[in-house]
Amino acid sequence: KADTALYRAKEQGRNNYEFFSEEMATANFELMYLNSALRKALENEEFVLYYQPQVNSLTGKIVGTEALVRWLSPDTGLVAPNRFIPLTEDTGLIVPLGAWILKKACLQMKTWLSEGIELSHIAVNISGRQLSDKNIVRTVRDALNFSGLDARYLELEITESTIMQEDRYISVLHEFKALGIRLSIDDFGTGYSSLSRLKHMPIDKLKIDQSFIKGVPGNKDDEMITQTVIGLAQNFGLEILAEGVETQEQLEFLKQNNCHYIQGYFFSKPLPFNEIDFSKR
Ligand code: C2E
Ligand code: MG
Ligand code: MG
Ligand code: MG
Repeated sequence: KADTALYRAKEQGRNNYEFFSEEMATANFELMYLNSALRKALENEEFVLYYQPQVNSLTGKIVGTEALVRWLSPDTGLVAPNRFIPLTEDTGLIVPLGAWILKKACLQMKTWLSEGIELSHIAVNISGRQLSDKNIVRTVRDALNFSGLDARYLELEITESTIMQEDRYISVLHEFKALGIRLSIDDFGTGYSSLSRLKHMPIDKLKIDQSFIKGVPGNKDDEMITQTVIGLAQNFGLEILAEGVETQEQLEFLKQNNCHYIQGYFFSKPLPFNEIDFSKR
């Protein structure tokens, strides 16, 4: 019991740092265990990229894909990124893992292009911990050089809340832009960015967060937010994509409101590279 441990520590007149509960110790042990498993997973190449199509909402044509990492653990099977990415951000493992993801995604895009599949971009997620790594620009450049992929085919997705964390991230974005890379703001609408900051960012695309798409059509607030973000993108001359589109009704609402691109289970779940049907319209 936590109380007992605390009581014992107090009784022994120990310092604050020795007050810990068994629950905390167990949680720590599990994190340490998971962390070492993740390090081994990177060495053993147990990570896989799935790709989710991004689609022109009017024609249904696939215009690009987003790379989404999974851990294919020999013990537990396919593990979703929300279960391990946060820990890799805390430990810094996201830096080498992210470099691997960038290389893998650029190589896949290069292969698709060489097969004659006409895609405008592959999107790769970049977290705050990666952006704050001093070598991030070199890491991205290395992935492009290694794969031979032209920079204009790579799109980096950074969440709105990440961008708002640090002023100096904006200068990293400008460095990416100078290389010819496309930039997209992920989960837009949830990160409280100000319009004056948005104005100074060298971005190409806004991705409306799925939480708003859940409520359309029907929820007046979500409808209004979605319409407002679409209008914002139009006024700034940015591309606009809606995430998490699951139904025909959502698609119709988005088409009527001039949202050019959609991504979501309605069209396709994220899939292994060889399971995407690029001929689908
Ligand atoms: P995200 O970048 O916002 O990715 C969108 C998430 O929504 C993905 O979850 C995707 O599978 C899911 N999704 C797509 N369409 C639908 C839909 O119609 N309905 C619903 N309910 N969900 C949908 P996933 O793959 O589990 O990834 C979760 C998050 O993990 C990502 O959010 C991203 O923040 C992070 N992540 C994934 N891969 C990477 C990566 O390679 N690097 C980094 N740094 N983060 C990653
Ligand atoms: Mg994303
Ligand atoms: Mg998102
Ligand atoms: Mg997200």
